[in-house]
Amino acid sequence: MFGAMQDVPLLVNRILDHALVNHPEREIVSRLVEGNIHRETYADAHLRSRKLSQALQALGFGQGDVLATLAWNTHRHFEAWYGITGIGGVYHTLNPRLFAEQLSYIINHAGDKVIFTDLTFVPILEGIEKEIPNVKGFIIMTDAAHMPETTLSNVHCYEDLIDGQSGDFNWVEVDERAPCGMCYTSGTTGNPKGVCYTHRSNVLHTLVGNSSDVIGLRSVDSLLPVVPLFHANAWGLAFGAPAVGAKIVNPGPNMDGESIYQLLTEEKVTFTAAVPTVWLMLMQHLENNKLDLPDLETVVIGGSAVPRVMLEKFERDYGVSVKHAWGMTEMSPLGTIASFKAGMENMTFDEQMDIKVKQGRPPYLMEMKITDDDGNELPRDGKAFGHLMVRGPFVVGEYIKGDGGQILDEDGFFDTGDVATIDPLGFMQITDRSKDVIKSGGEWISSIEIENIAVGHEKVQEAAVIGIAHPKWDERPLLVVIKNEGAEVSKEEILGYLEGKIAKWWMPDDVVFVDEIPHTATGKIQKLTLRQQFEDYKLPTAEAVAE
Ligand code: AMP
Repeated sequence: MFGAMQDVPLLVNRILDHALVNHPEREIVSRLVEGNIHRETYADAHLRSRKLSQALQALGFGQGDVLATLAWNTHRHFEAWYGITGIGGVYHTLNPRLFAEQLSYIINHAGDKVIFTDLTFVPILEGIEKEIPNVKGFIIMTDAAHMPETTLSNVHCYEDLIDGQSGDFNWVEVDERAPCGMCYTSGTTGNPKGVCYTHRSNVLHTLVGNSSDVIGLRSVDSLLPVVPLFHANAWGLAFGAPAVGAKIVNPGPNMDGESIYQLLTEEKVTFTAAVPTVWLMLMQHLENNKLDLPDLETVVIGGSAVPRVMLEKFERDYGVSVKHAWGMTEMSPLGTIASFKAGMENMTFDEQMDIKVKQGRPPYLMEMKITDDDGNELPRDGKAFGHLMVRGPFVVGEYIKGDGGQILDEDGFFDTGDVATIDPLGFMQITDRSKDVIKSGGEWISSIEIENIAVGHEKVQEAAVIGIAHPKWDERPLLVVIKNEGAEVSKEEILGYLEGKIAKWWMPDDVVFVDEIPHTATGKIQKLTLRQQFEDYKLPTAEAVAE
């Protein structure tokens, strides 16, 4: 026997329909690549997305076609997602920070038929056009006046394409399990692997993300998604905002402290989201210019662990509530968020920061466990480290084209590649990527924890900890530091600062000062490159053993 409720499919375009009916006048503000600030409403975006769908059909594209975007966050990029899914197509975000060879590999692997691009990235595409023969054309997201001279073939102007259409169009109805979007992992080792979201997974992720213990966006919010649309499905914000009718403020290409501050204040932003590096730039700008954040209420920080000093500054100095989130491309991406449980609101400030510095707890629809190397579940005691495994309706089932083979355990859990603890209250804390853990004398040292304490030192700008081979202990930690501009600080001073804050046997065996620490295309510290850089490094403690 079946129940008798309406079987309405969960399709992302219905989110924009909802915004059209219920929030037609709410604004989407964008700083454009061309330099100006553009304003439109959800009603405008709905019409323009429909026109784009019509134009894409007129060009011969349809259901199941993968159409890529290489672009900053602007209203056009937002419309492109809905215009593409509106014909039953699949949006595929490309990360412009990847190397050219990685980009062409991904474009070919995904079978992209068209690439939407900002003016900024035309030269990148010109450079790889010969390597991507299956791409049938390029849509430059600008108006006729700004169209560039280009060697690309089959080039269309976005605004001209739209202008040529009536907007009299109904979204193509697809199955809710049909492909909707694609995003590739950044692939620090080997080739990038692709994740293909469905309409259903995106809609369920939106509902979970918008619940108040998770991202919790509201209609009254003015949202600045600094996180790019090309990073991990934009953390779900391109669907979350229209689902509640929040105002969207797109930063375009400018993510420096001054530009972000300008938008935060001028557009009275209440809610924003980005990786820690962006907030580091904003904080420097605020401190150098003695500025405040009077409108901002909430900041979501994820992608890398939030350093405690950043968390405390936001909360205490600027009165902004931090939502520390963990997730990954493979999870659409939200996995956990450090929001309080009953009683925590009455804790002291320091106790609350102890909670928020953790990556947090999973919402309903996300299941999580930690296991040992043999797949046995480990206790949730806040001490045992293990492989972090996840299961849920917006977690990847397999990579595109089956890359990597079977990626779930026999209970359907996906190995995130992260190593974590889970405490008795259910709060998860990442200690490392499994490839980055430092194994010293058979025990694991958390590089992330040491890094986050080290950046609390007032003269440290950035810190990375890697394992260096050691004749007695297998590996020992080396702390790599970038000093703050103009600051003088010694190895002894840094080690003295760490003393008492971490276990004695976690103390780095050495500290080296560098001008630069390598980062991945999504702003994470590139430990692999750093380890290669320090391959021949001899720790002073290793020499002592050898003597
Ligand atoms: P991506 O798919 O590029 O977003 O990368 C996902 C990976 O980023 C995760 O598997 C983690 O290793 C890392 N990550 C994301 N959020 C956090 C966080 N809040 N703390 C620590 N690591 C994080």
